[in-house]
Amino acid sequence: MAEKKYALVLGAGGFIGGHLAVKLKKEGFWVRGVDLKHHEFRGLEVDDFVIGDLRNAEVVNNVIDRNFDEVYQLAADMGGAGYIFTGEHDADVMHNSASINLNVAKRGVEAKIKKLFYSSSACMYPAYNQLDPSRPDLSEESAYPAAPDSEYGWEKLFSERMYLSYNRNYGLNMRIARFHNIFGPYGTWKGGKEKAPAAICRKVALAPENGEIEIWGDGRQTRSFLYIDECLEGIRRLMDCDTFAGPVNIGSDEMVTINQLVEYVMQIAAKKLTVRHIEGPLGVRGRNSDNRLIKEKLGWAPSQSLYKGLEKTFKWIREKIDLNE
Ligand code: NAD
Repeated sequence: MAEKKYALVLGAGGFIGGHLAVKLKKEGFWVRGVDLKHHEFRGLEVDDFVIGDLRNAEVVNNVIDRNFDEVYQLAADMGGAGYIFTGEHDADVMHNSASINLNVAKRGVEAKIKKLFYSSSACMYPAYNQLDPSRPDLSEESAYPAAPDSEYGWEKLFSERMYLSYNRNYGLNMRIARFHNIFGPYGTWKGGKEKAPAAICRKVALAPENGEIEIWGDGRQTRSFLYIDECLEGIRRLMDCDTFAGPVNIGSDEMVTINQLVEYVMQIAAKKLTVRHIEGPLGVRGRNSDNRLIKEKLGWAPSQSLYKGLEKTFKWIREKIDLNE
C-alpha cells in the first residue's frame, strides 16, 4: 500500500483553500486546514482543522509541526475591487499577508517541508501593460519593471521573491502560480469582498423582471475568469511537476468585457435588465491570462467556457438567495 501523504492547506476556511482541502482529502491525503475562521458556506471533511492566526509565528510553528509532503499557502487578506482598490485597506493587506508569508517560509525550512505552493496573483503584473483593454500583456516575463496597480499586488510580488530567495538560499522546494480571477460556488458573494462574477450573479438574481442593475465603470474593461475546478487542476498539476516551479499563470484566456459578463448572466437567469453604469473602484482596463508558458511546461491549460462556470455559480447563488442565507 502507498504511504499516507500529509498535506496542509493554509486559508482552508476561504474559497479556493476550502475547495482544495476537500479535493486533497478525496485524493487520499491526510489533510489539515488552518484559517482565522471556519468555512462560511460548507463543512470541510478534513482530518484536522485549526482555527488560528497565521500572522502569529507561534501559531505557524504549531500547525507546521512535521515535514508535510505538501503545503498550500492560500491565506491572505484579500477581497474584490471594492476591498483592494479603494486604498482603505492597504496597510492591513500588506502587513497581514506579508506577515503570514514570512512566517510560513521560515517555518517551512525549519520543519523541512517537502513542497510549498504559493498563490500569487495577476495583480502583480505592471499596470502599464494593462491599459489597452483589447491587448493586455500578462506573459510571465512581463512582470518587470514592476508596477502593480495595488498594494495587494506589491505584496504578492514581494512574497514571490521572498519565497524564491528561500528556495535559492535554503532549498525550500517552491511552486508559485499567479491566479487570474477565480470564481465558482462556495465563494464570497455579498458583503463587500465579493468579486465581479459573484456580484453580478447576485445583482441579476435579486433584480425584479425588467428591473435595473448597477455596474461599476463603463463595463468595457476586459477580464478573464477561471472556474474553480480548473484552478484546482492547475494547482495539482504544478505541484506534481518536478521540472518546473513557476511562477506561472493559472487563468482562463477567454477574455470578455464586464458588459459581456453581465449579458451572459442575464441569459442564464433568463432576465432582461437595464444596466446602469456608475462610478466605482475598477482596477486596470484590460486583463487576460497568457497561457503559453503553462501549456509549454505542463502540457495543459484551462479550457472550459466561462458560460458553463457561470451557470453553476449562478445556480449556487440563486439557491443561497432562495434560502435567505
Ligand atoms: P479567501 O479570502 O476566500 O481566502 C483566504 C483565506 O485566508 C480566508 O478564509 C481568510 O480568513 C484566511 N486568512 C486571512 N488572514 C489570515 C490569517 N492571519 N490567519 C489565518 N487565515 C487567514 O480568498 P481566495 O479567493 O480563496 O484566495 C486564496 C488565495 O489565492 C489568496 O492568497 C489570494 O490572494 C489568491 N488569489 C485569489 C484569486 C481569486 O480570484 N480568488 C486571484 C488571485 C490570487
